[in-house]
Amino acid sequence: MKELVKIILKSGKDQSLRRRHPWVFSGAIKKILGQPAEGDLVEVYDNKDEKLATGHYQEGSIAIRMLALGEETVGDDFWEKRIGAAWELRKEVGPANRKDTTVFRLVNGEGDGLPGLIIDYYNGAAVVQMHSIGMFRNMEQIKAALLGLKGLKLDTIFHKSGNTLPKRDQFEVKDELIYGEREVGEVTEYGNNFSVNWLRGQKTGFFIDQRENRKLLEQYSKGRSVLNMFSFSGGFSVYAVRGGAKLVHSVDSSKHAVDLSRQNIESNFPDCKIHEAFATDAFDYLQKIENKYDLIILDPPAFAKHRNVLNNALQGYKRLNQKAMEQIKPGGILFTFSCSQAVSKENFRKSIFVAAANAGRNVRVLHQLTQPVDHPVSLYHPEGEYLKGLVLKVD
Ligand code: SAH
Repeated sequence: MKELVKIILKSGKDQSLRRRHPWVFSGAIKKILGQPAEGDLVEVYDNKDEKLATGHYQEGSIAIRMLALGEETVGDDFWEKRIGAAWELRKEVGPANRKDTTVFRLVNGEGDGLPGLIIDYYNGAAVVQMHSIGMFRNMEQIKAALLGLKGLKLDTIFHKSGNTLPKRDQFEVKDELIYGEREVGEVTEYGNNFSVNWLRGQKTGFFIDQRENRKLLEQYSKGRSVLNMFSFSGGFSVYAVRGGAKLVHSVDSSKHAVDLSRQNIESNFPDCKIHEAFATDAFDYLQKIENKYDLIILDPPAFAKHRNVLNNALQGYKRLNQKAMEQIKPGGILFTFSCSQAVSKENFRKSIFVAAANAGRNVRVLHQLTQPVDHPVSLYHPEGEYLKGLVLKVD
């Protein structure tokens, strides 16, 4: 095996790595003994020459993403083993062990010991999304490992990193099929059917991370008038209809998303008369609703992609939630979410607190929600817990 470039950390900067945090920031580096190319495997040492880890090198604030700790190496069987372990976990804890669910996250980055790699599974199709150049350069190994998984039905692999990888002159990143031919598929989630378009859809095509929260919503829907804001493919709306809602309205600024939500309602409930979908801005829509709804879902896109826009993001959550709390019927239920990694649970809660106080409503927390079991979080990498949600009773 080719010898790897050695990177030496500054004194004291080895602590977080010893505590298994999977990233080394550029400021922690004392010396690079050689010239690694982006995406190369490098070895990390403390300043007393003890080997700490092996990982992918990249220019930028996160300089190294850890793949192996201590003396463990990243050899030929590494990909097969790690991706195999991720598949075993989904079979063990779900949802790959359920007959009524054919969609799940197969690899969740740091939570599966594979920083920079996301793989979502859509009933025979794997959509691979890379967030680091190292993962991009290991595409062939990742593909081979996926095709080698025992018991996983797989006819398609789609690579979708056009928007998630940093731009570099040396290579062009295209969203493309790397195995098979399908660009769309049909999946089942707790018995509900959804059509997924990984080519055009947001993220990898579907918001798998809201599965358990959609299921919880179903239990609250009976007899209620439901407003699903930022509805995308209508996930929450489908569960609300199944749960016996009186009426369900989906709102999304994207026309494509609105069409998709209609299509998904239609395929589950042909001739459904209680669902309507509107292509419009969420803030505008909320201005005009006047006490019409007693169950509102707020699942906006990430308002803060970076820490430096955190304050704006918190203002955004406050404004949105305040509007919803002012407009919801007394005794209504609000499902409210943030999927911004830069927004902590505490900060999110604070902005909801201010929204409630400004709206002048008495608000109680019924549930505290997060991401599901197929999105595991490394205890040493709390940043991986990005989805936060509250179910509120608004008196
Ligand atoms: N709840 C969805 C996922 C929501 S993703 C699910 O369970 O699948 C966020 C959605 O918000 C996207 O579909 C995007 O088109 C929409 N969106 C973004 N900005 C918006 C705005 N200002 N008003 C309405 N919708 C918006």
